[in-house]
Amino acid sequence: MLSGMIRKYIYLFGIWSINKQIFINYDFLLKSQFEEIEIIKDYQLKKLKELVDNAYNKSTYYREKFDKHSFHPNDLTSLNDLQRIPFLTKEDILNNINRIQISNLHEKLVYSETSGSTGKPIIFYRNKDWDAWHRASVFRGYSWHGIRPWEKNGYFWGYNFSIKKRSKVALLDYLQNQFRIFSYNTSELKRFIGKLKKAKYLEGYSSAIYEVAKMINENNIDTSQFNLEMIKGTSEKIFDKYQEEVQQAFGKKMISEYGAAEAGIIAFECPQGNMHINMETVIIEEINSEIIVTNLVSKSFPIIRYKLGDYVVIDQDTKCKCGMKHFIIKEIMGRVGKVIYGLMHQYPSLTLYYVFKNLAMEQKLILNYQAIQRNKGVIVISIEQNINENEKNLLIKEAEKYFKNDLTLVIEVGIDLSVHSKKKVDFISEIGI
Ligand SMILES: [Zn+2]
Repeated sequence: MLSGMIRKYIYLFGIWSINKQIFINYDFLLKSQFEEIEIIKDYQLKKLKELVDNAYNKSTYYREKFDKHSFHPNDLTSLNDLQRIPFLTKEDILNNINRIQISNLHEKLVYSETSGSTGKPIIFYRNKDWDAWHRASVFRGYSWHGIRPWEKNGYFWGYNFSIKKRSKVALLDYLQNQFRIFSYNTSELKRFIGKLKKAKYLEGYSSAIYEVAKMINENNIDTSQFNLEMIKGTSEKIFDKYQEEVQQAFGKKMISEYGAAEAGIIAFECPQGNMHINMETVIIEEINSEIIVTNLVSKSFPIIRYKLGDYVVIDQDTKCKCGMKHFIIKEIMGRVGKVIYGLMHQYPSLTLYYVFKNLAMEQKLILNYQAIQRNKGVIVISIEQNINENEKNLLIKEAEKYFKNDLTLVIEVGIDLSVHSKKKVDFISEIGI
């Protein structure tokens, strides 16, 4: 067994040989995290100018786009001027991928991919410094929870459920296999739990972590020897039910990270439960509840005013007790563009979010749900809680405020949402598939 010290140096050497810029950027982020907002904004403007300048001079796509809209990088004198640049959509990226990519940077490029709107992957290349910012930003997030970069591999070798592996699908299969084994074989579970005792953190799909937590609770496994500093759920929505089980099993709740390959780390949850925007590497705008991302370090594949496709609420006022002044993403409310079909009209899927939010705020009725639409005019809503007729009626009434008589709700109660569907999302539409 290698000592922690040796592991640390092996790991640091590994990182150093991959990309020594990671340490430089990590140090920068540790220093900048307590800066005043005006200083961070000045820094953002400086980085924005560099990004836009470079895009205009080296990317055919941006040169044409800016010229067409009579925008010149020199016009950029304040952060507000960013609004003069038109949006970038996923379709724009798909249709112009080679014209956006900048290759002559005298910097090594790193293979990267993200899912397109049709599920077809978008393949692009990140310059090494961009990659370093990405990793450094993750490390900074870890540091808020008492995790140091070299503890990543050292204590969690073999069970680091990182989604940053090349093949997400293969990893998901791997995880599901693991859990299949666990659910039928308690000795496997015990072996895994034994290893978890040495782990500093647990990271993975939130539903997978939830499954482990549930098994720990069901089997009354003693977790008093655990030293998990951080439990990070990624990629999926974290339901309240997940948090209850995770809290009970590990004594702390799951935290989350928000980002995407092309956008970088957008936000990371601090110990106070606030998702701080990674303002050193992204500028986030909220326009009609939609998130618009400008990735300040995306030199080789500029991401400027990108419609990532989520509805969010941004909070610029809360003074977080952790000391950081960085703005907060208060809520991620679901995907943009999905449509609920009534018999006569169409509604954004976000409507459902408001229905359930109103129920929670006005009726104190907090429900975990998932909605599926298979036919126009009808929506099936699965509710985790066992609600009574009276509560069902409250839900129907609230929905009628938005949908009138255009949509029929089929309500199913007492549904275990964690096994209900592979995709842990609020709304699934099977119309047009
Ligand atoms: Zn905070």
